[in-house]
Amino acid sequence: MNIHEYQAKSILKKYGCRIQEGTVAESADKALTAAKELKAETGTEWFVIKAQIHAGGRGKGKINETGSNGVVLAKSLDEVPDKAKGILGGTLVTHQTGPEGKKVHKVLVAQDVYYPGESEPKEYYLSVLLDRAKGCNVIMASTEGGMDIEDVAEATPEKIFKEWVDPSTGLLPFQARKIAFALGLEGNAFKEMVKFVSALYRAYEETDASMFEINPVLKTSDNKILAVDAKVNLDDNALYRHKDIAEFRDISEEDPLEVEANAAGLNYVKLDGNVGCMVNGAGLAMATMDIIKLSGGEPANFLDVGGGANAETVEAGFRIILQDPNVKAILINIFGGIVRCDRVANGVVEAYKKIGDISVPIIVRLQGTNAEEGAKIIEESGLKVASAILLKDAAAKVKEVLA
Ligand code: GDP
Ligand code: MN
Repeated sequence: MNIHEYQAKSILKKYGCRIQEGTVAESADKALTAAKELKAETGTEWFVIKAQIHAGGRGKGKINETGSNGVVLAKSLDEVPDKAKGILGGTLVTHQTGPEGKKVHKVLVAQDVYYPGESEPKEYYLSVLLDRAKGCNVIMASTEGGMDIEDVAEATPEKIFKEWVDPSTGLLPFQARKIAFALGLEGNAFKEMVKFVSALYRAYEETDASMFEINPVLKTSDNKILAVDAKVNLDDNALYRHKDIAEFRDISEEDPLEVEANAAGLNYVKLDGNVGCMVNGAGLAMATMDIIKLSGGEPANFLDVGGGANAETVEAGFRIILQDPNVKAILINIFGGIVRCDRVANGVVEAYKKIGDISVPIIVRLQGTNAEEGAKIIEESGLKVASAILLKDAAAKVKEVLA
């Protein structure tokens, strides 16, 4: 699950990371109230107004309707409402949203932390993520903050410092100091960075995150270290242990079909092709997508109905696939183990009749326990459903209907 910047910052703060303070607002009025409160609390005269969407690159991104950037600076309280209006309700397009962009429902009104002082503010990059190959967590740090880390990794990989953390010992104090040293910090900034890294690592570990990325981490002109941005990815399978964080979920940021599938207990990912597929088991789903490609189609989705495929899950799967206007054919590929093929076949026929008016051809491939009985039920149903037992026959039928 992804969360918004303002939510991620609230987690960081709870774990003891200093953050750029701010308040989220849904209207220009509320943005002004938030700015006034910030001024009273922090003494700031300038404010940054930041679109809250689940995508990065907001600073360089543009709002379609107004031409405003997704992150803007207001140099007085008076400027706040208009600058917030330039973002709220608009569609923000960044290099991460795709050309269709994302609608902005909320802005974060934050204190300006790039104020002048004894030294220049300086941006750094910091992240914690899982290194699957090494089987441990890795902290990545760079002096090249504010830039896309992928670009840094490609052009100047030597500027990314990596420190691996053994999960059985956790982050050791010397490792946090090594990172602060690698970033060239000294004095108070060094001390604050050590504290920041330790708190960040604890936040990552204790929330069961798969990634915490702070880009930029800022050294202010008075040598404080704080998070200006925060991008967090949490492990869905651990959310049951974090009820408070699970509430951060914002379904308006997710694909509506994926939300519906999730509610029905299906594992669904929308893709751009023309053949919808419904399969039990993730591995079989991947193989089915390959078969669709080999027969000249493109998969319209990944859909794993899980172990207990029954009439209800098949119907929910059908409904979701049929909502995708690009779908020209549906391939159902079920391996009947504990769930017998005749039961799945009955489920398909039942769901078909219940939904009615299905105009796209359906190919059902049932293999495993009672495969013959299943095929018979499909053939005798009188519905526009073709049956196959062998995968190559199913593929040939997909090819036939697409021709
Ligand atoms: P992103 O573009 O989605 O990654 O959003 P960020 O939160 O990283 O902000 C983008 C950029 O806005 C930062 O790299 C900064 O250059 C700028 N920015 C963010 N906060 C402030 C601030 O308090 N003052 C000023 N002057 N610029 C800021
Ligand atoms: Mn950023």
